[in-house]
Order: sequence, then structure tokens, then C-alpha cells
Amino acid sequence: MIAITFDIDWAPDAVIEDTLRILDEQNVSATFFATHDTPVLKDLRNHEIAIHPDFRGGDYEQKVSDLLAVYPDAVGARSHAYYLNSQIAKHYGAIGLQYESSLEMIGVQGVRPFRHWLGFVRIPVFWEDDINAAMEGDWDLPRMDSDSKSLYVFDFHPVHVYLNTESLDRYERARKYYHQPEELKSCAAPETIPGTRTLLKQLVKYCSESNNHSRLSEVVDVFANSRNCS
Ligand SMILES: [Zn+2]
Repeated sequence: MIAITFDIDWAPDAVIEDTLRILDEQNVSATFFATHDTPVLKDLRNHEIAIHPDFRGGDYEQKVSDLLAVYPDAVGARSHAYYLNSQIAKHYGAIGLQYESSLEMIGVQGVRPFRHWLGFVRIPVFWEDDINAAMEGDWDLPRMDSDSKSLYVFDFHPVHVYLNTESLDRYERARKYYHQPEELKSCAAPETIPGTRTLLKQLVKYCSESNNHSRLSEVVDVFANSRNCS
């Protein structure tokens, strides 16, 4: 089972729309973790919206309720910078959040989601674009077992898709233009260089052809509500 996810991280609308086009051309579903209010994440038919709170600076409950006010159908969360502590977890339990996905298990085969004692399901991340750049990994599809019991959650950032980020150097050079899509484009790697964008396109094609692309609430239904993971 494959789930493609995106952390929006305040990307400009043109950058988010660029990612959406790659998915929608192949009718592949994904989960978007939203940091802010934007019309491009409203009324998406194929995709799921969850929240991506930035907990740096405290007031956890306010940050969660501000985002849920914008995306009232969201049933999941992943924190910016994977920040999670017992107070936040307790709040998620109290509001009945379905899933939480701030857990790096990069490259670990055979992981399964599990139910946190406070009731929500934790969904580990198997691959992430900026971590792959930091690890100086290659940009081929990672090895995945076709076994239906294996879960592979991919975590992309639209800005890295837009830049076709293949190294942290490229991102460092580009980030001063973060909110200027035209200038940002001039810093992007061409698709002749393997990077985040070429890998996403390969993955989307693979998911479309194998009809294997789940939103995270579907992952919860399949894994965590089965008897093996209660
Ligand atoms: Zn983030």
C-alpha cells in the first residue's frame, strides 16, 4: 500500500498547483498537510486535506483549532518539523483526531501504523524528499514489496517538486525566492537531472498503473482497524 503525502509549508499557490497537476494528470490521490488557508486546497475531489501545524512558539491548542477552522473536514495531522509531545498528543486524543503522521521511519521496511494509547493512529513516513537530499540518496524509486501488508508513506514538499530538488545546496540557493514562483522557477533543476520532481512523476505513474494510491484515512481503515493492529 502506497500513500503519497505533501507538507505544504506555506508554499505559494502556483507551486501547490504545479504539484496538483502532476497528480491529477494521472488521477492519483494524495494527502495534503496544510499550513495555511488557500483556495487551491479547497474542494479537491481526489485528495484529502489534513493539518500541518507549526508548534514552534507554543499555544498548541490554538494552533490546532485555527487550522481546523479552515479545514473542518481534516481528520489527521503531521506537525511541521515532526514536532510532537505528550501535551499535543493528549489534545489530539481529546478532539478525536483519527491519525497523526509525525514519525520518521525512513527506509524501514515492513512498518505498520499503530494505535497510540490516546486513540489516534500513528502513521510512519518511509521516504521524504529533503531527508533524501540530506542523505545524498539516489532519486530512483526505493525498493517496495508488492505485498499488500507493507505500507509506504512518501512525504514530499511542493517547493521541492517545483525545484526538482536533488541537493540541499540547490534549495539553499533558491529559498530566498520562496514566495516568488517566477524567480524560484529559474533556480529549478531541469528534469534531465534526477531529483524530487522526476521521482514524484515516476511514483505517480507507478501508483496509477498499479492502482495503488491511498489517502491516509484509507490507510487507517485498512491497517489500524484490522484485528492485527488494535
Ligand atoms: Zn513542514
